[in-house]
Amino acid sequence: MKMSTKPETIKTLTTHYIDGEFVESHGREVVDIIRPTNGQVIARAMLGDEEDTRRAIAAAQRAFATYGRTTKDERAKILCRLHEVASDRLDDLTAAMVEEYGGVVQFAGLIVQSGVNSFSAAEKALHEMEWTRKWGNTTVTLEPVGVAGLITAWNANALFICLKLASAVAAGCTVVVKPSELSSLQTRVLLEALHEAKLPKGLLNVVTGRGNVVGAELVRNPGVDKISFTGSVAVGQSIMRDCAATMKRVTLELGGKSPTILLDDAALDQAIPAALVMAFLNSGQACAAGTRLLVPKSELDSVKTAIQDAMKSFSVGDPADPKIAVGPMVSQNQYDRVQSYIRKGIEEGAEVLVGGEGHPEGLEAGYFVKPTVFVNVKNDMAIAQEEIFGPVLSVIAYDSEDDAIRIANDSKYGLHAAVIGADLKRARRVASQLRAGRVVINRMMDDAQAPWGGFKYSGIGREYGRYGIEAFLETRAILE
Ligand code: NAD
Repeated sequence: MKMSTKPETIKTLTTHYIDGEFVESHGREVVDIIRPTNGQVIARAMLGDEEDTRRAIAAAQRAFATYGRTTKDERAKILCRLHEVASDRLDDLTAAMVEEYGGVVQFAGLIVQSGVNSFSAAEKALHEMEWTRKWGNTTVTLEPVGVAGLITAWNANALFICLKLASAVAAGCTVVVKPSELSSLQTRVLLEALHEAKLPKGLLNVVTGRGNVVGAELVRNPGVDKISFTGSVAVGQSIMRDCAATMKRVTLELGGKSPTILLDDAALDQAIPAALVMAFLNSGQACAAGTRLLVPKSELDSVKTAIQDAMKSFSVGDPADPKIAVGPMVSQNQYDRVQSYIRKGIEEGAEVLVGGEGHPEGLEAGYFVKPTVFVNVKNDMAIAQEEIFGPVLSVIAYDSEDDAIRIANDSKYGLHAAVIGADLKRARRVASQLRAGRVVINRMMDDAQAPWGGFKYSGIGREYGRYGIEAFLETRAILE
């Protein structure tokens, strides 16, 4: 997606998507959309208000009266159409993610692809699920929960919207999406694509706006039956609290501080690059980023050397360049947040092995930070306990396998974890003791049918495949 930077040609997105059409916003607040590589305004977005949200909820309620009664074959056909139309715009979706969010092109392509794939994955899961169970005179069926409010974060816009929409559509729910206000351009490209699927009117509605306006109305409105949220712990907690008033079901996909356990039989030439890929995933702005690297004390010196070598290929720069591994942070706020944690790490007594404060040389204009690796980190330091959401890795030494497992689990989060080692049986044994929703062995991996979600403060519920669909279902038993 090409955007001119000349002030006179800056366009303003003024519409939401309600009842199958792009409709003018009732809310009139306008915000700038800023390109993170240079801080320039590239477009503007008009934000929706409570009235826009209520219109969207009403459309979703009307649509649910019929869509909620569709068969699984009808829903499978819709998922198939969604997959087709989104696949046609893969390149545009990726370009928008690079432009507006600053995602590095290779990873942005993967994110967008997995968003698009979530429609086919939901279709597969829908066919495999047992929708009716019978015994004696009892019949139990799975029923859609109703109208769902889908509230998403900015770091993987197409993935979150597609994933939540796919699960909801498979379950027979209708939806109102509130994307992050930092993702308006990306949402627009996605919506143009999804519009081509000619969905039943009101099945998909999207209102761009502020969390405390549009998001809060979705949470409060009795016409919404379920909230599926991806974002921070603080907002997730307030949503869960407020959903109680109308007894809404909630799925919360929240933060992480994921450990990567390096076992002492790991080959460092492969293990360290794999660990760094997990640490700097999506420029470190990833809930699953492996930001704590747990290293056997005896290996610490060789690990430090291996990190210094491997970091040479983690170059920072223009996210559109396929050779670049780390792009800018999404916003000035996010830049400031990462800087404050790097300062805090230094104040707490950790040692900067690579990176440090400030912009990388030559990249002063945008929100670029230096990918930073701290050593001599203790697990009770803020940089080891708090989610930074930037390319900052904390290396923590451990004494024994049990000590590594203890440190890995000594976190309020439990979203993702990794174990790297040559002996697969041993790696599995360690993995089975980690309190995290997903554990990968030896490298970052994905499986569109495997559940995604967190233990502890990382959230409530699961997404992906049948687990994601189940989150939009109720059971009904009929006894004769
Ligand atoms: P955020 O919590 O600030 O915002 C998330 C969404 O919630 C946005 O759309 C925002 O407008 C909305 N919101 C804000 N206040 C609201 C309110 N009072 N009521 C309803 N909605 C409201 O998070 P963010 O900064 O956009 O994203 C970063 C966070 O997301 C990180 O903590 C990260 O770990 C988390 N995240 C989690 C996952 C996961 O799958 N577990 C994936 C990506 C990001």
